[in-house]
Amino acid sequence: MKEIYLDNNATSKIHPDVAEAILECQREYYGNPSSIHDFGLKAQAAVNQAKEKIADFLGCSPKEIIFTSGGTESNNLAIKGLALANREKGNHIITSQIEHHSVLTTCKYLESQGIEVTYMSVDHYGLIDCKELEEAINNKTILISIMHANNEVGTIQSIDEISNIARDKGVFFHTDAVQSFTKIPINVNESKIDLLSLSAHKGNGPKGIGLLCVREGIKLTPLFHGGEQEEGRRAGTENVPNIVGLGRLVELLKQDTDRRNQLLTRLRDRLFQGIKDKGINVKLNGHPTRRLPNTLNISFDDIEGRTLIISLNLEGIAASQGSACTIGTLKASHVLTAMGKTPEEIQGSIRFSLGYENTEEEIDYVVNMMPKVIEYAREYGSICYLKGEFKYEAEESCCSQPLFKA
Ligand SMILES: *Cc1c(COP(=O)(O)O)cnc(C)c1O
Repeated sequence: MKEIYLDNNATSKIHPDVAEAILECQREYYGNPSSIHDFGLKAQAAVNQAKEKIADFLGCSPKEIIFTSGGTESNNLAIKGLALANREKGNHIITSQIEHHSVLTTCKYLESQGIEVTYMSVDHYGLIDCKELEEAINNKTILISIMHANNEVGTIQSIDEISNIARDKGVFFHTDAVQSFTKIPINVNESKIDLLSLSAHKGNGPKGIGLLCVREGIKLTPLFHGGEQEEGRRAGTENVPNIVGLGRLVELLKQDTDRRNQLLTRLRDRLFQGIKDKGINVKLNGHPTRRLPNTLNISFDDIEGRTLIISLNLEGIAASQGSACTIGTLKASHVLTAMGKTPEEIQGSIRFSLGYENTEEEIDYVVNMMPKVIEYAREYGSICYLKGEFKYEAEESCCSQPLFKA
């Protein structure tokens, strides 16, 4: 059976050279970077070397990088850390309605602690309005947190314009760049970004490692208290192998970004065009051009997206709905909702997110399977996976309200 992975925005396959670098580090540099013997010094040197490579790649200084366990922790550290350290300056944060849950839930928590949060709306493409952003700033505003590229639809915000507004008004600017990392270029210094979150596993790196880039001089209250690692900003023994892996990853990317970008765009557009050429009625969700090169979020008529994903899976094709969901708590996508999509469009949406290993043959296979899987999905209507079994929605309610029944 085929195995075609088109869910790279959920997570991605580790690059073999990165896996190799991690394994070698596990074997050779097992000392604790805080130890002062040679084993420790070697590990410390490996961490520093990786930091330099990454800083060079991102356009920041090595001192500005704090390694974390991933995007979720980086977003928590940026937003909570800044809000707690700047309480006397102000208590207002601006973000958007289409952020990742690690930003939205953090903001919701801060609201319970007396911080005010403005959630910017977006247009039909998923873009915020910079005029509205400017108007939302008041003299209590301490932080603007707007993602670089959206994980569900791929829309890319004008972060240069946002950072200029933030600088002008003396407000810090944080961007969640987890999805844009490895897919489109980003430069912290040139784009005047104060805080930037990223995670390795969305871009062919290992899981469990990410970083927060924090402009020099910005104070953050740490999430973890303990040792003096990362200059007291993030306690806990460094994840040396994964840090080395992330360093190796950016080294590889430097040589390869344009080629990957072009390849992904070509395959993504081939997929979309191919589906349309089969006479299937689909609508694109997200911006037609200001979009990640690998992301294709589309809505089908009269289809339940999850059923379509299950049908695709039966043919060896991995896609997803906007974001990974937990059975029983599935809700309509907050991103598509904020973009003003109808319930039918939301229910009928799926996301293909491509990776650099995908081929034209794979895309053509998916295109050729589409009529069959769509027919299957329409026939079976609203089924879902419950307690290890596929069930009809009507039998036992495990998900949100079905729009279409078998
Ligand atoms: C996946 C993702 C995160 C969370 O990153 P983890 O490393 O999985 O914690 C944050 N923001 C965006 C946009 C993401 O896609």
